[in-house]
Amino acid sequence: MALVNEHFLKLPNNYLFADIAKKVNAFKVLHPKADVISLGIGDVTQPLCPAVIDAMHKATDEMATAQTFRGYGPEQGYDFLREAIMRNDFLPRGIHLDIDEIFINDGAKSDTGNIQELIRWDNSIGVTDPIYPVYIDSNVMIGRAGTWEDGRWSNVVYMPCTAENGFIPQPPKGRHVDVIYLCYPNNPTGTVISRQELRKWVNYALKNDAVIFYDAAYQAYIQDPDIPRSIYEIRGARKCAIEFHSYSKTAGFTGLRCGYTIVPKDLTASTLEGERVALNPLWRRRQCTKFNGTSYISQRAAEAIYTPEGKEQVKATIDYYMHNAHTMLEAFRQLGFQAYGGENAPYIWMRTPDGVGSWQFFEQLLYGANVVCTPGVGFGPSGEGYVRFTAFGTKESTEEALQRIKKWMNQSY
Ligand SMILES: *Cc1c(COP(=O)(O)O)cnc(C)c1O
Repeated sequence: MALVNEHFLKLPNNYLFADIAKKVNAFKVLHPKADVISLGIGDVTQPLCPAVIDAMHKATDEMATAQTFRGYGPEQGYDFLREAIMRNDFLPRGIHLDIDEIFINDGAKSDTGNIQELIRWDNSIGVTDPIYPVYIDSNVMIGRAGTWEDGRWSNVVYMPCTAENGFIPQPPKGRHVDVIYLCYPNNPTGTVISRQELRKWVNYALKNDAVIFYDAAYQAYIQDPDIPRSIYEIRGARKCAIEFHSYSKTAGFTGLRCGYTIVPKDLTASTLEGERVALNPLWRRRQCTKFNGTSYISQRAAEAIYTPEGKEQVKATIDYYMHNAHTMLEAFRQLGFQAYGGENAPYIWMRTPDGVGSWQFFEQLLYGANVVCTPGVGFGPSGEGYVRFTAFGTKESTEEALQRIKKWMNQSY
């Protein structure tokens, strides 16, 4: 008899974005003429930049003749891209990586979800709350998260990030965690972590023999030169952290698929007998077994963002989104909302007025202003009472949404 992996059945059946779509559809049925603007889902809207498109055309042509055709590539990615990453994303910040520490992925979601295979099923995990749902759900599927009780997983340590603590997670007191998930700049709150605060986490991990899984998918949005863009800017992080990068939000690769993961050779974890085992060769072994590499065309496309033209074009798109973020932040604050993030990240995290619940405010905004946001509670218990807005819309739709919100606020609050 084939027995199902029952851990899957523990996952609550509410897919945040499916629930949102359902509510938006219900609204549209009732109001067929309404033009709804979505500042909800975290997908980009601007096309790939010309340097990327040129590189893809060229790579496609190479695939058309036997002399330049590429079949299976290296599982860890092509050296041309790994070298470009090393030279452009790390060396300028004084971080020296070995090329074998860089693993090209097909986007950060796969690797942030799969990386937990490297650690035993009974390790304890700690997450900042609210959080990108992939980290927890991937642990649920393998049985590590325990059971779902009152909106929380019994074996997950939640580290609240709210306005009250300035969205700065503190290492848990009294309860040890073996694995810590951090994401900075943060999705959903749009907040960042200072060098000093990040150093606390690296020190915690070194002292407690814990591993940090650091999601840097939004590092390209950091404007403040004092904010770390990589955890390896912190001394000692090579011994305790794995870092994930993605070209999805950096360069509009959400549909193209490419990113990379850094697994330093100095990073080890312990066997039950106390023997230290390096995680880099384990991840290589895992990838060789389960992954056949990111497409050649995607990797050439990613390489192109490191050319002078590519850098300039990617920056222009990021500036475009960050302009939206600033406009939103300013408008929300003028309206008297408490709004956070948006300065080094493409997300605004807003406290709902009068302590209204996340879902209730979502509906009020949809029906009152025909604007879609994301209810904060969908990202974890500490997200209750907040909503998320993304800066990934067009300039025009963002401005139009703000006009409507202003009008609605003046009428209803
Ligand atoms: C979008 C996002 C990713 C990246 O997803 P891809 O699979 O690279 O498209 C990773 N982490 C967070 C927190 C994200 O929001």
